[in-house]
Amino acid sequence: MFYEPVSKISGIGPKKQKLLERLSIKTIGDMLYHFPRRFEDRSNFKKIHELADGDIVSILAVFKGPLTIKRVRSSLLIASAPFVDETGTIQVIWYNNPYIKNTLKKDVEYSLYGKVSVKFGKKEITNPIFEPADKAKATGKIVPVYPSVSGITQKNFNSFLEDALRIAKASAPEVLPLNILNKYSLMSVGDALENIHFPKNFALYNEARKRFVFEEFLVLETALQKMKKQDKEKNGFSIKADIDEFKKRLPFTLTDAQSRVVNEIYADISKNVPMNRLVQGDVGSGKTAVAATLMYAAVKNGYQAVIMAPTEILAKQHFATLSAWFSDFNCVLLASSISKKKDVIASISDGSADIVVATHAVLQDNVIFKKLGAVITDEQHRFGTKQRQTLTSKGSIPHTLVMSATPIPRTLSLILYGDLDISFIDQMPKGRLPVKTAARDSSTKEQVYKFVRSQLDQGNRAYIVCPLIEENPESDLESVESFTKKLIEMGFDNSEIAPVHGKMSAFEKDAIMQSFKDGKVKILVSTTVIEVGLDVPDATIMIIENAERFGLSQLHQLRGRVGRGSKQSYCIMFSDSPSKLCRERMKIMCNTTNGFEIAEKDLQLRGPGEFFGTRQHGLPEFKIANIFSDMDILKLAENAAKDVLKRDPALSLPEHSPLCDKINNLFDSVKIFN
Ligand code: ADP
Ligand code: MG
Repeated sequence: MFYEPVSKISGIGPKKQKLLERLSIKTIGDMLYHFPRRFEDRSNFKKIHELADGDIVSILAVFKGPLTIKRVRSSLLIASAPFVDETGTIQVIWYNNPYIKNTLKKDVEYSLYGKVSVKFGKKEITNPIFEPADKAKATGKIVPVYPSVSGITQKNFNSFLEDALRIAKASAPEVLPLNILNKYSLMSVGDALENIHFPKNFALYNEARKRFVFEEFLVLETALQKMKKQDKEKNGFSIKADIDEFKKRLPFTLTDAQSRVVNEIYADISKNVPMNRLVQGDVGSGKTAVAATLMYAAVKNGYQAVIMAPTEILAKQHFATLSAWFSDFNCVLLASSISKKKDVIASISDGSADIVVATHAVLQDNVIFKKLGAVITDEQHRFGTKQRQTLTSKGSIPHTLVMSATPIPRTLSLILYGDLDISFIDQMPKGRLPVKTAARDSSTKEQVYKFVRSQLDQGNRAYIVCPLIEENPESDLESVESFTKKLIEMGFDNSEIAPVHGKMSAFEKDAIMQSFKDGKVKILVSTTVIEVGLDVPDATIMIIENAERFGLSQLHQLRGRVGRGSKQSYCIMFSDSPSKLCRERMKIMCNTTNGFEIAEKDLQLRGPGEFFGTRQHGLPEFKIANIFSDMDILKLAENAAKDVLKRDPALSLPEHSPLCDKINNLFDSVKIFN
């Protein structure tokens, strides 16, 4: 029954079925796995004499009458009646419910749930949920509240789930193997389904929840560990190169952190196993040079290397950098707007191109590599798993490196990127001055913008970030549009300012960014669209308007656009918000420039929902698990996944088949187990 369509549930016709589809509920099983968002505790009963103003409670009381019905206005009908228990009387009031007189029966005990008010010593309850006490369904217990769409009420969900449990609870597949259930004392799936929806008490609910959190994590961890193992079982090729010769080409000496990561990469690629490594490093920590060592090794061994960047301007920047370092190699740029694209594609397939710097244009079918040995993805969060896989599949088991500038806390990334090996570049190049950071309110605006003027006059450039694109009369928030005008009023010249925002085409944006890089434009007024990896050493000022609108990690990312040269840079965050959270964020920003530390703090301040909700991290979404507060369970599941794969590496035992199914549904189109 579990896999049958929801239409088998009583009360679900074609119309409701369509609506449910919008919630991704197609089968009875989907319905059972549609978990409540929260609960209303209606299990708390009080006697009438205990009731206080504002109480939200359940009451057992007998209808004594009389019922009085008054029409106050044409649109307002008020019905009221006293109800009693052995301790007192409460007046129950209904608005616009003419049918009430047909429903209430004298001397019958009712169960009521609602908010109590006490006026001049008299107790009242208005529009309560009520039902005969001996047939109580919606009161006197913990009631689930479901995520829904309009057209489906909470009452509907209650009855759907009751029915779904009745018909399919017994046939729900047990994803957790028996030995895992026992070892970690987890609730079985049937009991857990019952108690996740209709728990008798919160202790039982917590047990049920724990079980499903565990299940979610186990599915993910088993998948990740399996992917990692599969990669390690592949027969790749080993490459070796003289790193010192490469280092001589660089205009700087690698930092200790860069050197360490380079060594990690070289250790990987000297084995017959394909490398699959993530490099996490703050903006400006020098990831490009690290990627270049891999490309160097590949080319020196007769292979081609590719680096894919999310935008054309970043690709161009990489192309300029790499062409300078690799003047003896044939470097080509592949992006949709370049001329002579055919020639470039031909040079890739005949093998004359050694290093290919590209945008996603490289993913097209007509781009074929002769001998691709190293695949690098820059700013990995901008690409999906599938895109990365497509690029990798253009080589025959190449070594791959993905680079990320959005640090996530170490503990988390070790578990969540379980399929990758991870390197951290946790150090900035020498001579880099930390960005001076300040939080200001608008009373100091004039002064700050005078300072901006003086910086521009010294040949520097400024970013100004606003939360909105266009002016909105209903909002006090700064917009790119209105702020550009304000700058002109403040005496800045129209010709030195350019607006940039997400409504522009990629082409327009790139052109403006390029003139900013070249210095034709001195002030960029933008939303958060400005590119992560763009290197503009003369940009020394980052001003963030309405800083309260941005999360900590986002503020840090924005700040990373400046301080990329040897000059002193500044980040000024404007906010008039009295919010405590906002002030806490500002304080952290002013106190540290370490991205990992900030990520950790961000997670603590915002909670993981929002932290991961930004989808910037490319992490999977969870139905019920909360990565931060369920960290303990995550660790248990990580171990459990190891146990499972040790016992049954291919998940071929019948008891593992439900787990196997879940894993294969995890990432669309990426099948992990056969
Ligand atoms: P990321 O991609 O990590 O944000 P980049 O690779 O773009 O950083 O490097 C940022 C800037 O720092 C570049 O101008 C680069 O030339 C410079 N750089 C990188 N490594 C070093 C180093 N070890 N010493 C000095 N400058 C460096
Ligand atoms: Mg970069």
